[in-house]
Amino acid sequence: MNIILLGPPGAGKGTQAQRLVDAHGMRQLSTGDMLRAAVKAGTPVGLQAKAVMERGELVSDEIVSALIGEELDSMGPDMGAIFDGYPRTAAQAEALDDILAARGRKLDHVIELEVDEDALVERICGRFTCANCGKGYHDKFAQPRIPGVCDKCGSTEFKRRPDDNEDTVRTRMAEYRAKTAPILPIYEARGIVARVNGMADIDDVTTAIERIITSG
Ligand code: AMP
Repeated sequence: MNIILLGPPGAGKGTQAQRLVDAHGMRQLSTGDMLRAAVKAGTPVGLQAKAVMERGELVSDEIVSALIGEELDSMGPDMGAIFDGYPRTAAQAEALDDILAARGRKLDHVIELEVDEDALVERICGRFTCANCGKGYHDKFAQPRIPGVCDKCGSTEFKRRPDDNEDTVRTRMAEYRAKTAPILPIYEARGIVARVNGMADIDDVTTAIERIITSG
C-alpha cells in the first residue's frame, strides 16, 4: 500500500505516519526528516537545503524527488510507503507517478488532513521531539508523562526544529496554499482522495485514517 498524507505544516502528518508505521510496519518517507538529516550530516544536499528550510521555502523538486527514489530503493517491494510532506508541488506529484511506476507501485490513497490554520501556529510553535527515538510532544497538549523523560525510550534529551517559529511557519503555510493545495485536484480526478478532520483528537484522526486504508 502507498499512501500520501497531505496537509499544511502542523496538521499531524508526522504523528499519524508514526502510528501507521507502528501498527502496520509501513515505512514513513518524510522528505523533511531526510533533509534535516542531510543538514545535520553536512552533505552537499544538506548544505544546499539549510538556508531554504530556515526561511520556510521549498527545496528544489529534483533534490526531494531523488531522495524519495533512493529511499524506496532501500525498501522491500512489499513494504508499504507513507509519503509525509511529499509531494508538495505539481512537478513533484508528476515525478512521484514516474518513481512509483518504475518500481511497480501505485498510489492507493491520498489522505488530506483538514485543519484550522490559526490553531496550527500554536500547535507548531509548542512542539518538540525526543532526540533519541523521535517521539513527538507538545508544551501544551502532550507533555511526557514524567517531565523531562521520553515515554517511549526513557531518553532525557529533546529537540525543537529551528523552523518552528511563527515567521517561518507563516511562510511554510503560504507555500502550502500556493504550491501544495493545488495538487489535490490531480488526485481527486483519480478518485483516491479522502478527507479527515485534522483538528479532532489524535486517536480519532488515527481511527478515521485506519477506516480509509482498510476500506480497500
Ligand atoms: P517538513 O518537515 O515536511 O515540514 O519540511 C520542513 C522543510 O523542509 C520545508 O519547510 C521545506 O523547506 C523542506 N521540504 C520538506 N519536504 C519538501 C518537499 N517535498 N519539497 C520541497 N521542500 C521540502
